[in-house]
Amino acid sequence: MPATKLSSDKPVSDVILIGAGIMSATLGVLLKSLDPNLTISGYERLDAVAAESSDAWNNAGTGHSAFCELNYTPERPDGSIDISKAEKIAEQFELSKQFWASLVQEGPLPDPKSFIRTIPHMSFVWGAANVEYLRKRYNALLHSPLFKGMEFSDDPAQIAAWIPLVMDGRDPATPVAATRMAVGTDVNFGTLTRSLFNHLKGLPGVDFHLGHEIEDFRRKADGIWRLKIRNLASGESSIVRGRFVFIGAGGGSLPLLEKSGIPEANGFGGFPVSGQWLKCRNPAIIARHEAKVYGKPAVGSPPMSMPHLDSRHINGQKELLFGPYAGFSTKFLKKGSYTDLFRSIELGNIRPLLYAGARNLGLTRYLIGQVLQSPEDRTAALREYYPAADPADWQLEVAGQRVQVIKKDKKEGGVLEFGTEMVTAADGSIAALLGASPGASTAVAIMLDLVQKCFPDRAATSEWQARFRQLVPSFGQHLADSPGLTAAVREHSRGVLQLDA
Ligand SMILES: Cc1cc2nc3c(=O)[nH]c(=O)nc-3n(C[C@H](O)[C@H](O)[C@H](O)COP(=O)(O)OP(=O)(O)OC[C@H]3O[C@@H](n4cnc5c(N)ncnc54)[C@H](O)[C@@H]3O)c2cc1C
Repeated sequence: MPATKLSSDKPVSDVILIGAGIMSATLGVLLKSLDPNLTISGYERLDAVAAESSDAWNNAGTGHSAFCELNYTPERPDGSIDISKAEKIAEQFELSKQFWASLVQEGPLPDPKSFIRTIPHMSFVWGAANVEYLRKRYNALLHSPLFKGMEFSDDPAQIAAWIPLVMDGRDPATPVAATRMAVGTDVNFGTLTRSLFNHLKGLPGVDFHLGHEIEDFRRKADGIWRLKIRNLASGESSIVRGRFVFIGAGGGSLPLLEKSGIPEANGFGGFPVSGQWLKCRNPAIIARHEAKVYGKPAVGSPPMSMPHLDSRHINGQKELLFGPYAGFSTKFLKKGSYTDLFRSIELGNIRPLLYAGARNLGLTRYLIGQVLQSPEDRTAALREYYPAADPADWQLEVAGQRVQVIKKDKKEGGVLEFGTEMVTAADGSIAALLGASPGASTAVAIMLDLVQKCFPDRAATSEWQARFRQLVPSFGQHLADSPGLTAAVREHSRGVLQLDA
């Protein structure tokens, strides 16, 4: 790192947050709730908070609970359904709701209706084999308290009553089935992030800077991290210091992790996948749909390509979108650079990248197919979920950018992961979050884990343990095994967050 002047003798911060998305917002508020005396400095390269993946139109706003996402309930070779991942994700979202409810009760979060609403989560399939899969999935989930209340139907009239658009003009000869969870949610992660940062910025010991990009890192023998930061308006660079650094830079996390030089960063690579939606602009159609309807991804396509016809509530307005259509771009951030992918390639990750590429030809073929899609192809995909759709009612919008994690693997050489990956230094002084699925919904579970890993001594004290349980009443307990606890925390969150179900 070249010599650069120290930022006006600024004292060493306890915590430095890089990036102003939902992850940094959640970590910052959680840490200040645990210890109000911590000093926190935050830096964001853009001129606004939550302007990348966390913004409402850049993601689908699904409170991922595995109620409707079929990729979390794979069929085993013996035909049975594995619900372990679905239970984990449903449980993680309950942690998020509990944390947000505590922040509403304690004051940091304003009107809950500004960021979370009830919307039924539904799965919809067609064809005999898929109907059979959905029935088996429903029967398997029924036994878990986290999926209590799920409804199943293969009656076209019942499904039409739930989701009329999906059944309008559908061939009656094709068997169909749907499940419905009334307690699903739509979350405006953009509003939530902005509210969390508004609260954080007003707390003593917190300084926050927009338009500042982290360029480099160095750690000296004193154990303190030095970060080189560029003020993008003035072009000036300076150094700030911190005891703990969180790289919450979304798609920009991988290049920063590589610059940190920690051995744990070795062998990670990233593969960017961009997204697009069809957004409905006909209010009469928008009004006729009241659900998030997820289908089965096409064979060979990645899990995040799962099509959905999705009611949203954004800035007080009801919306409807269909997608996502995947695409390929070499950018790691929506407002990033086309050189991002190439600059992330290093000696340490070239082998995993090549192996993961060679083993995921299905994904490559899928992405090429998506990129080559014509407007007619997109309408055909929409009509699988809304057969009577008129393309004139829909416009194409660009969603956020995801960077899928590529990890070195002893057996395979390199593997492509579709989940999130927290990378922490052995001494807990720096952590980075890579990947984007199930994403924002699980921010609270991710940050609870991070705090326990990176602040182990303080997290183990009776003071922090008690505060964890105050903020997240089911902290440390297993909801999937506890019908009573699941019902109690769900009811509490429902009441405080003013959810309808
Ligand atoms: C198409 C799509 C659909 C999705 N749907 C859902 C969904 O339905 N439900 C769900 O829960 N999740 C969903 N997600 C995932 C979710 O959006 C992300 O997991 C989440 O927003 C990531 O938050 P973040 O804080 O890590 O990143 P971001 O919100 O991207 O924030 C990172 C910030 O870091 C800044 N930054 C980057 N580099 C630097 C640097 N060098 N210096 C300073 N600042 C920097 C960026 O400008 C950005 O503001 C979806 C994502 C996509 C792309």
